[in-house]
Amino acid sequence: MRKFAIGIFIFWSSLAAQANETILLPEAIFDGTSDTLVEGKAVVVNNGRILRIEDKRDTYPSSSQVIDLSGMTLLPGLIDLHSHVLLHPYDETSWNDQVLKESWAERALRAGNHLKASLHAGYTTLRDLGSEGAGYVDVGVRQALEKGVIQGPRLIVAGRAIVATGSYGPKGFAEHVDVPLGAEPADAGDLVRVTRDQIGHGADFIKVYADYRWGPNGEAMPTFSVAEIQTITETARASGRYTVAHATTPESMKRAVLGGVETIEHGSTGDTETFELMKEKGVAWCPTLAAGEAISMYQGWTKGTDPDPKRVSDQKAAFQAAQEVGVTICAGSDVGVFDHGDNAWELELMVEYGMSPIDVLKSATSINADLLHMSDRIGRVKEGYLAEMIAVEGNPLQNIGALKKVKFVLQGETIIKN
Ligand SMILES: [Zn+2]
Repeated sequence: MRKFAIGIFIFWSSLAAQANETILLPEAIFDGTSDTLVEGKAVVVNNGRILRIEDKRDTYPSSSQVIDLSGMTLLPGLIDLHSHVLLHPYDETSWNDQVLKESWAERALRAGNHLKASLHAGYTTLRDLGSEGAGYVDVGVRQALEKGVIQGPRLIVAGRAIVATGSYGPKGFAEHVDVPLGAEPADAGDLVRVTRDQIGHGADFIKVYADYRWGPNGEAMPTFSVAEIQTITETARASGRYTVAHATTPESMKRAVLGGVETIEHGSTGDTETFELMKEKGVAWCPTLAAGEAISMYQGWTKGTDPDPKRVSDQKAAFQAAQEVGVTICAGSDVGVFDHGDNAWELELMVEYGMSPIDVLKSATSINADLLHMSDRIGRVKEGYLAEMIAVEGNPLQNIGALKKVKFVLQGETIIKN
């Protein structure tokens, strides 16, 4: 009798252990770091984490939830290191009008829609690069996500971002008109205070504009000195936060790198010498190719018909130089300039501009996770990692466009899309 009871107990407890298990059965897996896809494996998920990866079995207990992903490749949830959830495409409403005429309530509500679209497109983490005139609404949106008020990817926010006095827009108003700016001005005398204030208001990291279009002819010119940028990065670092820089020209990219930032955003006219310095200092590059193409299209460019405008030929040349040098390239699209949910356009362009599909996949998953200092939790299909996974039809190494039509999205314990 006692033996029987023990037998029952073991049977019951093994069922109980499997009761909450979800078994994903994809054709192949990209784990975030390997050079090839793996076939014949099942991914077992429990309590929002990846419990184990094992050989596929013929049958599974009826108590477990089995998700058939035949013909599909399973990948880590995608990460975009450069988003603006508080912006929407400039061909709908200009940046100036979004900053000056849209209420913060409207912008927050739009962000809710944008986040939902991003998650359904397979993006489970976004690093948001500044509220663009909406104060700390990004911090509030992040808190709403964390409380489950709205559905969307994990959001890592910059808050207001720091610009040099006189450099940033909106511009073109009479001197007696007090115009709210798209970011917070600060200079040598108050950079420590402003950086600390942004941290105090909830910024997860600091964004600094190392250049802006304020040259005599509206061209991009450096804003801060190396010492000023260093003041920001050291103040941020003391609090456990890192700094990233908007920088488009070699001179401002160099200043930002020497000033201690961790990623360069845009870098559209970066040259070999600059990328070599970045590689030496371990600074990564977020090229935001999709934004460059989107803005060119808004200005009348028809891709495939018209010759490349300077903006596009510049970023193609920079991308080639960066690859030759071997600088770490992250996947950051500047989505918001174009439609939310179209983030994977960036990945398609990275392949089009010459990066191998496997490197692009690594960039959008494990490399981006590492740059977020979250390499122990996200960006990999690996035991113990958070169960943030997506599946696409077929083999994305043969057709990167499959990432634009994500079929399955799992976010922890919730199946968002199947
Ligand atoms: Zn941006």
